[in-house]
Amino acid sequence: MNSLEKKQLLGLDLNQMEEYLLCLEEPRFRGRQVYKWIYQKECSSFYEMSDLPRSLRKKLDEKARVSIPRVLKQRVGKDGSRKFLMELDDKKKIECVLLPQSRDRKSSYTLCLSTQVGCPIACNFCATGQSGFQRNLKAFEIIGQYLGSKKELNKRLKSSQAELISNIVYMGMGEPLLNYDEVIRSVHMLNDPRGINLGQRRITISTSGEAAGIKKLAQENIQLTLAISLHACDNTLRDQLIPLNRKYPLEVLFPAVEDYIAITGRRVTFEYLLLDEVNMSRNDAHKMIKLLKPLLANVNLIPYNEIEGLPFKKPETAKIWQFYQWLQDGGLNVSIREERGSDINAACGQLRSDYRR
Ligand code: SF4
Repeated sequence: MNSLEKKQLLGLDLNQMEEYLLCLEEPRFRGRQVYKWIYQKECSSFYEMSDLPRSLRKKLDEKARVSIPRVLKQRVGKDGSRKFLMELDDKKKIECVLLPQSRDRKSSYTLCLSTQVGCPIACNFCATGQSGFQRNLKAFEIIGQYLGSKKELNKRLKSSQAELISNIVYMGMGEPLLNYDEVIRSVHMLNDPRGINLGQRRITISTSGEAAGIKKLAQENIQLTLAISLHACDNTLRDQLIPLNRKYPLEVLFPAVEDYIAITGRRVTFEYLLLDEVNMSRNDAHKMIKLLKPLLANVNLIPYNEIEGLPFKKPETAKIWQFYQWLQDGGLNVSIREERGSDINAACGQLRSDYRR
């Protein structure tokens, strides 16, 4: 049997894992053991599952596989950020990024996950969006980024910290809500207390404004954070920056967001890229205050990271603070995101721009 014909165990939930082991005429508890090895010990080799009988390890090796993506390349930034280039079973490549939560070397990390190979939204400031769309990721490939990153950290840092990766953001390559079912499935797997056990409140899904997906998400009863990439507060500019705005203009997107807040009672985060000479005027600040003040919302300003070949510029620090001040004076709950990973092209919007370097 060639390896791709073997049963993929990564992505099975506990019940499915137990069922699979029962199918192999093994007791149900063996399923729990395999589940722990995969999700708690990032183990992809059955021969290393030392509490399984030798005969079962051999049987599993013949019939099944655990495809934690292979790390082809790793770049480490000055601030401790780590960008991984990972290869999937079909040789497609994706990137994900670990961002330290502070400059302390013992800091835990936020992991930025990809949900698609490339991205169909094609935002004109984004490296991923410029490289086209290839396919959606399966839940096991999303979870695989977590397990692969954790494995690398354990290998390289030899740290005894129990929870090296404390937060997850679905903010890497792709529009998560266009791959809705697999993304939600991966959220449940991250959250499972019998496996990875990451609290729902430590998970953020970021969307470019997929209003249909936001409506569905409101019904899920998951305590995650929803982040919306706003970047412009009128349709003319937003149409240019985020082509999805032509499908879901602000007058469609905002009722979906308001419903989401009303149903979940959760505060929403609006991400706003600061593009010099594009979206940072006093008038832009006024429009944002008018739009967001009535909502339960946080605003996160993200100074742009320049990308070779794209025309957008990073604003000077003084302009960033001026824009921040206008919003704060207008009564918005606003913060400026601290820059991480830009020296290794791992910052927001920069993923997949440097495969060959
Ligand atoms: S910013 Fe996000 S949604 Fe837009 S093209 Fe890039 S990855 Fe896709």
